[in-house]
Amino acid sequence: MTPEWLALDHAHVWHPYTQHGNTPDFLPVVRGEGTYLHLADGTRLLDAISSWWVNLHGHARPEIADAIAEQARTLEQVIFAGFAHEPAARLAAELVQVLPAGLTRVFFSDDGSTAVEAAVKMAIQLWAHRGERRPLVAALENAYHGDTFGAMSASASSVFTDPFSAHLFEVARLPDPSDGDVLSALDALIDRRGHELAAVIVEPLLLAAGGMRVWGEDALRGIRERTERAGVLLIADEVATGFGRTGPLFACGRAGVSPDILCMSKGITGGFLPLGATAVREEVFQAFVSPDRRRTFFHGHSYTANPVACAAARASLRITLSDACTRSRAEIESAHRAGLGRLAGHPRVSAPRVIGTVAAFDLAADAGYLSPIGRQLAEFAARQGVLLRPLGNVVYLMPPYCTTADEVAGVYDVVARFLDTL
Ligand SMILES: *Cc1c(COP(=O)(O)O)cnc(C)c1O
Repeated sequence: MTPEWLALDHAHVWHPYTQHGNTPDFLPVVRGEGTYLHLADGTRLLDAISSWWVNLHGHARPEIADAIAEQARTLEQVIFAGFAHEPAARLAAELVQVLPAGLTRVFFSDDGSTAVEAAVKMAIQLWAHRGERRPLVAALENAYHGDTFGAMSASASSVFTDPFSAHLFEVARLPDPSDGDVLSALDALIDRRGHELAAVIVEPLLLAAGGMRVWGEDALRGIRERTERAGVLLIADEVATGFGRTGPLFACGRAGVSPDILCMSKGITGGFLPLGATAVREEVFQAFVSPDRRRTFFHGHSYTANPVACAAARASLRITLSDACTRSRAEIESAHRAGLGRLAGHPRVSAPRVIGTVAAFDLAADAGYLSPIGRQLAEFAARQGVLLRPLGNVVYLMPPYCTTADEVAGVYDVVARFLDTL
């Protein structure tokens, strides 16, 4: 049964990352519960990508829904300049407790892109306060940091950013540590242009949108040592990796690394509401504290630290920190290893990789984001009751933490059946 509102969507809505010229009909979703999305025709889809990596604990999770309802009836929103409120204060304190050591201040924004914009702007302005002109940011090949202009500049050049290349600021590009020597390149960059370098930004241990490319803890530690020695800020973009995705709460924690600035969003509210957060070391914050009003960080968004989003984030964090959730994440990781093990012998499957609850492999086909094989798999999987959205020929699973090992195995069965059709 097609709901009548679908025609309104067709007539009036412009969807993200969507070519309206050749996209099959959108699937009408009417309800979510746990790992599943329920469609208007009564069928359901297992959400194996956590609805674009945001959902942590399942759809419509009651504890988070209740926290939202209660906060919405108490204080739904207030201007955050000149005012404080309990949900933001408590959330910031709770984050500082669990973030890598030394990150003591939290700046709130709206989403991952704005968390990155704030980080980059802080880094550049901080050097101005210190009386140095340091316009240069270094970033990794294959990085993805978001779709606003600063975040696009830091992201690797791709089909996403090409139309805007003339409008992006200069970024020193370092090799992708999953297959390049990032440390030698960083040494050379610091030698040549260290005095211009404001910050290095990385997606720690997992270049996510750039192809689920897993990279090493040693390289991350090496980047931290070198940036620290050179006095250059290290920005960790944990928008995708934060809140347990790679196993521990933050990917930096896996490597024992503490950045100067750390960006969060995506899973922060458990996938209920948009919220971004940029955590910084006290020195970064202190560089802005002055009687001179020009030293203010003149950045903010209308909904900065929205109380309802902060309440959702606190409820989600409580679940994430529970023993049950830690166990579930470990079970998902084992189920990934078993599932990938079954696929690994297939001639079309290469580079199987797992980090925490994220698993991926490359499918032999035309490479790149526009490879049609990913769409074919997505359509096949949807017919079999599973939501997958490969990045071109890179197939990945990133299920909510409430997904059972059997459900994960079922997703690998669907992928295996697709491989058999090739
Ligand atoms: C998704 C993502 C972003 C952008 O977040 P939005 O909420 O989509 O703006 C930034 N950085 C990383 C690592 C991401 O995966």
